Amino acid sequence: MATIMEQCKAVKDYVIEMRRKLHQIPELGLHNPKTRDFICAQLDEMGIPYQVNTVVHDGVQDTSVVGFIEGKNTDKVLALRTDVDALPINEMLDVDYKSTHPGQMHACGHDNHCAMLLGAAKVLSQIKDQLNGSVKLFFQSGEEIITGAKMIIEGGFMENPKVTACMGMHVWPLPQFPSGAIVVKPGCMMASGNKLGIHIKGEGSHGSQPALGRDPIACAAQVYTALQNITTRELPGDEPRVLSICQVHSGSAWNIVPSEVYMEGTIRTTNPETQQFYMKRINEIVEGVSAALRCEGTVDWIDGTPPVMNDPAMTAAMAEAVRENLGSEYIQQEVQTSMGNEDFAYFQEMVPGVFAFLNISNDDPATHYSVHSPTFQVDESILWHGTAFHVIGAVTYLK
Ligand SMILES: [Zn+2]
Ligand SMILES: [Zn+2]
Repeated sequence: MATIMEQCKAVKDYVIEMRRKLHQIPELGLHNPKTRDFICAQLDEMGIPYQVNTVVHDGVQDTSVVGFIEGKNTDKVLALRTDVDALPINEMLDVDYKSTHPGQMHACGHDNHCAMLLGAAKVLSQIKDQLNGSVKLFFQSGEEIITGAKMIIEGGFMENPKVTACMGMHVWPLPQFPSGAIVVKPGCMMASGNKLGIHIKGEGSHGSQPALGRDPIACAAQVYTALQNITTRELPGDEPRVLSICQVHSGSAWNIVPSEVYMEGTIRTTNPETQQFYMKRINEIVEGVSAALRCEGTVDWIDGTPPVMNDPAMTAAMAEAVRENLGSEYIQQEVQTSMGNEDFAYFQEMVPGVFAFLNISNDDPATHYSVHSPTFQVDESILWHGTAFHVIGAVTYLK
């Protein structure tokens, strides 16, 4: 009888084929109908039952698909999650499986994630009688807009039967490690991410007579500078954290003092306390500095995700299982916390979970482009390691 690793390796070509097909049909946001139909057709072929989410968000129908592989019981249920959405980027790669949707590309590699999970579904459905528990397959839309995970939760898929743990992964170029290495550590794997908007209202006037108004640009400059104090003066230096103001909009002519300024930015932190501290202090500084300069400052917290926090015991068990099954060079744990964010964190707020990176780079510099680049490329030959990680994870957790 084939070992589980042999079974994972046996779907290597299937995973590449799925990835290339998905790569040609990138879709954005929550509504990914072609991707949904593609996934459903594959699950139908495998005989895996599934449901499509019915939640509607801001008038948009979520198309996430949740498959179910029933093992010996449902006492323990592991959710294996892939995201499936793409980015509004024009693909600059010249490959024969290039995106057929102009202006849209799987530049974050979610096509790979989806293909790896389809591969895992194939293997797990073959060995389900050995699983002391069951597996849910989350094919999640809308990760890039950090909305999809919440839709799956709202759709009730963390219940009936109750999900007790979760796993997910992301392809990432990490050329310092062997190609195909699973990179994972306990604690904070990826930062929290909040999107904020700052409105500063003053009073417009002629450029020659600023004293007749209340200049919001002068105020915004002070607010911008004061905000940097949180990072450099108020938080300890031994913890990764970022505050960036990335947009400033105001004004219409050279001789008019405008009446409003709008700024937008992001904060990234590696623990929930620091995230809360930033939010509190940003509110206080924007309101306080604006008031001192005779303007009104308000903050909109537009969106945000908690940090991706890996459960220590589960991470240790998964790392050991990868070491045993794939070999010790393919498990790497010395990695810096990524300041990117991931809505997988919402699942980890509810149940213990592990989120890992799969190093998809090799010696070829073409595989070193970062995710979200129009030339992002992966070494497809190691994608089956991602499938193996899901399968090993399920077998380990559902012992
Ligand atoms: Zn992305
Ligand atoms: Zn991504």
